[in-house]
Amino acid sequence: MGVRTLLPLVGGAQSGAKEKKKATATKPSEQKRTRRDRKDLENILFKLFERQPNWSLKHLMQETDQPEQFLKEIMNDLCVYNKRGPNQGTHELKPEYKNTSHLDGMRDPRAAGAVSVSELAELVLPWLPPADLAAAASASRAMRAAASAVTARRAADFSRGLEAVPVPFDNPIDSNPYAYFLYTPFSLIHPAASASAHAQPWGCAQARPPCPTWPRPDLGLPSAGCACAEADCGGAGCPCADAEAEMAAAGMGTLRECGDGCACGPSCANRRTQRGVTARLRVVRQLKKGWGLHAAEVLRRAQFVCEYAGEFLTTEETRRRQRLYDELASAGKLSPALLVIREHLPSGRSCMRVNIDATKVGNVARFINHSCDGGNLQPVLVRSSGSLLPRLCFFAARDIAEGEEITFSYGDARLKHKGLPCFCGSSCCPGVLPAEET
Ligand SMILES: [Zn+2]
Ligand SMILES: [Zn+2]
Ligand SMILES: [Zn+2]
Repeated sequence: MGVRTLLPLVGGAQSGAKEKKKATATKPSEQKRTRRDRKDLENILFKLFERQPNWSLKHLMQETDQPEQFLKEIMNDLCVYNKRGPNQGTHELKPEYKNTSHLDGMRDPRAAGAVSVSELAELVLPWLPPADLAAAASASRAMRAAASAVTARRAADFSRGLEAVPVPFDNPIDSNPYAYFLYTPFSLIHPAASASAHAQPWGCAQARPPCPTWPRPDLGLPSAGCACAEADCGGAGCPCADAEAEMAAAGMGTLRECGDGCACGPSCANRRTQRGVTARLRVVRQLKKGWGLHAAEVLRRAQFVCEYAGEFLTTEETRRRQRLYDELASAGKLSPALLVIREHLPSGRSCMRVNIDATKVGNVARFINHSCDGGNLQPVLVRSSGSLLPRLCFFAARDIAEGEEITFSYGDARLKHKGLPCFCGSSCCPGVLPAEET
């Protein structure tokens, strides 16, 4: 037995020695090894490194049958040489080339890099808040280019393509290109809203079709509504219309519209506030007030401007958030956009309260500044058939010139004297923003 096992060992050693000799003998002819196409060779090398992570130059020469100089050249680009450690004397792939066999196009950043990095950037960057976007931009030149494209698109339309017209930021004051928040064209109900709205892509290269703002089955009772032919809605026979209540001269108006329960469709004329923002608007940075909403075209009196969209909150949640916002706002870290609407019911004895927070999730209206003289907007509570919750919508109280700031009165400032400073500039301004205890 011993002898039989010895024999092949001896033989093996002999043949190994022979091969070695042979290899040495053929060394002068090595120059005759023909160079492969560089790309092919790189792919062969990647396959070999998939098989085992560490290779000596000698073994790779045997495997690839390539001239030493040529192989060294390529390995310089793809590999690192282990000078010490358990794999001393071997080469292994640089980290950027490892474990990418499932991403063929990304294996070689020089060949497919420009495309792949931008594709990757397009997938990831629009999801990042500003600080993380800046961090990603510092990773490489390609990422920096992709990140500034995202920033430019964010500044060009903060509605993320969710409205019929883009709404840009315009900052002639400092280097802040945009304000970061999550966009919704219509109000959402907390906490379902918050759960689904922790993140949202913003600044994608691919435009998305605008979201339909209606129907809203989550807001109420889809069974109640009118059955008129679409062209008749809003007329005398339509139970959804309520002409007397429309655009009350003073204070808050009310308006009734068709809704989910109605037989008419979204193009019904009695749904003026349900198509999102269609007027040209722009958000402009000012020295004292910060961001503010401006008309970017002439707005006609009684024209619908926008809804105050955000999260519908319970009163308990509103109080919790207000305490937090007051703290952050007095430290200058936040511009809260929390609105409490009180509506006295016809009985006169009770009061309907609606809380909308547009601080984290909101639309264009979160940028509307307060004006002590009442501003140029008319707030209107809109009820649509089948909806339990009314929506706060803004109409132009008078003709508004192109470029003019759009404002409304948040409430009566006399209620509280320790509020934040008001910069509305109107003659009746007491210098303090209205804020009431909720
Ligand atoms: Zn209708
Ligand atoms: Zn109708
Ligand atoms: Zn109707």
